[in-house]
Amino acid sequence: MSATGPTAAAPLGLAETQALEERYLMRTYKRGPVDFVRGEGCLLWDAAGKEYLDFLAGISVCSLGHCHPAVVAAVTDQAERLMHVSNLFYTEPMTRLAQRLSESSLGGRVFFCNSGTEANEAAIKVARKHAHGRGVEAPEIVSFEGEFHGRSYGSLAATPKLARNAALGPMLPGFVAVPDNDADALRAAVGPNTAAVLIEPIQGESGVWPTSDEALLVARQACDEVGALLIFDEIQTGIGRTGSLWAYEQTPVRPDVITSAKALGGGMPIGACITAPAAADVLAPGDHGSTFAAGPIATGAALAVLDAVDDPTLLRSVRELGARLRGALEALPGVAGTRGRGLMVGVALEDGIDAAAVGADLLGRGLVVNAPAPDTLRLLPPLVVEADQIDRAAGLIGESLLGFGAS
Ligand code: PLP
Repeated sequence: MSATGPTAAAPLGLAETQALEERYLMRTYKRGPVDFVRGEGCLLWDAAGKEYLDFLAGISVCSLGHCHPAVVAAVTDQAERLMHVSNLFYTEPMTRLAQRLSESSLGGRVFFCNSGTEANEAAIKVARKHAHGRGVEAPEIVSFEGEFHGRSYGSLAATPKLARNAALGPMLPGFVAVPDNDADALRAAVGPNTAAVLIEPIQGESGVWPTSDEALLVARQACDEVGALLIFDEIQTGIGRTGSLWAYEQTPVRPDVITSAKALGGGMPIGACITAPAAADVLAPGDHGSTFAAGPIATGAALAVLDAVDDPTLLRSVRELGARLRGALEALPGVAGTRGRGLMVGVALEDGIDAAAVGADLLGRGLVVNAPAPDTLRLLPPLVVEADQIDRAAGLIGESLLGFGAS
């Protein structure tokens, strides 16, 4: 190591990397004891050369697998020509991506940002300003109890369980939570002050819980009655994850706004708030902005991602492989059931089996998954996963569960 820091020629190894993390990073994450150095397709390798099958894909980011050649080419080509100029000027990838996102979904305008939480922040701003336009003085955003929308103060306020952390208060006012899938409570909570209902079509972070069609229909109807916007957070469900480009396509409703991030950039940080025409002209110059947003590398990467994902053959395969994965898992001792759509799969474990311990055991066996709840594993493999990799993952989960007393 040089006096100023590590050099590329001197890999540190896991123990030293852990020591640096322990000393210098804020303690916001518990990490698995692995130091990944390379990825290709659905595979990852750690610093010691051990191979892993990745069924988490960077939490639904690397949906085309690691280092997909088209994404790598888009990023490297663009990086060699122009990396950043700011939003004070035009760049072509930004405009082409906005057109593509709009035309593939709601048909209005797009605001770009750098993450999921920022995409929701933009949507909340659109909703509040839209409500002020209707004469609402204290706009409210209504969400379901188990939802996750991000960590900035706006999206955190719309994440009811985390928003109760008084140590981070005071929270932003104007957010209302109702019990999950409780259509009556939702209807009762939506009134003249409602700016928006903000919903994950399938709750991801809380353990892959699909929102019922009934709740979505009531949300749509209630929003229409008061002139509020229906916002779908498609940050985890979008970009093909559920077997359609957007999850809303498989529901009976069409939202007014969708937010996207994660897989959109194929590994590059990018978020987008996409509107229907009715909400497209709400924000005006000066209302919102971001220095890095819409940069040519991230937007160029996203165009390459959409070229690959917005393909009926790939999307059909996501639905078929998802069914294969769930069928294999449901046959395993120790699995109480599965939830989700496409390749967004929650695995409910039988009573007494600790999902976090199973996740740690699977990491040791070379399978990357995560445990968003004490009784649930979450599987988010790359959409390009192959049938034999699905079978291998199910086999590893089965072997692991036997070690936790499943029979
Ligand atoms: N919304 C949903 C549904 C998410 O799953 C996440 C992240 O897990 C976010 C918002 C926040 O995205 P980010 O972590 O990119 O800010």
